[in-house]
Amino acid sequence: MRSFCTPQILGLLLTVLLVTALPPRTQAQVITSGPPSCPGVALTFDLCPVRKGSGYDQALIDYLIEQKIPATFFMSGKWMARHEQNVQALLQVPFFEIGTHGEVHAHLPLHSSEEQKQEILGPVRLLKTKYSHNATLFRPPYGEFNDETVNVVQALGLQFILWNVVSGDPDQAITANQIQDRFKRSVRKGSIIVMHANGKGRHTREVVQALQEQLMPERNLTPMTMSDLLQCRQAAP
Ligand SMILES: [Zn+2]
Repeated sequence: MRSFCTPQILGLLLTVLLVTALPPRTQAQVITSGPPSCPGVALTFDLCPVRKGSGYDQALIDYLIEQKIPATFFMSGKWMARHEQNVQALLQVPFFEIGTHGEVHAHLPLHSSEEQKQEILGPVRLLKTKYSHNATLFRPPYGEFNDETVNVVQALGLQFILWNVVSGDPDQAITANQIQDRFKRSVRKGSIIVMHANGKGRHTREVVQALQEQLMPERNLTPMTMSDLLQCRQAAP
């Protein structure tokens, strides 16, 4: 009888051992939705730096506050540097959550691990030192990342937040109806919707109002901040 431990079988066993000893797939740490059983939806707004315009959608923020709609904002460092009063204002709203969105809105996969770390840490440090705010949610600029990004974000103790519903709101050619059609097709329990609050979305306020008044009530969905959605926790009334 041939020995069980042929070199081929040994090799196979070693491979199996190595594969099972590896950490779980890094993609698992990238969050694209809340629990699929949770009747919550996260309305998330990126604050990417802008070259022209005010960089702040006051009408949208006013509407969210007036309607007491929980929302999450991802601030870039460059945007924060030009919008100190807006940073203060957003931090003061108890049903808003603040995360970060890189320092200069870099294309992370083009950079080394150390450069990525500095780009990611910029606004996290600024929020902590200048505003005494601990921001643990991170969203990569352009939604771009590689394995190193995931490792850096994890090593920094941040949560990596993407989305599963794209509004497309910075597209100047898109109409409010087209955005609403996208929402009708894709918004469901646990959805994370990506939009912009830097004034780049021409129809953002309008489509948020439609979500609030029609689509979410029709589907028995409640807006939640990102952290509340992940724990499926209803905000206190
Ligand atoms: Zn952005």
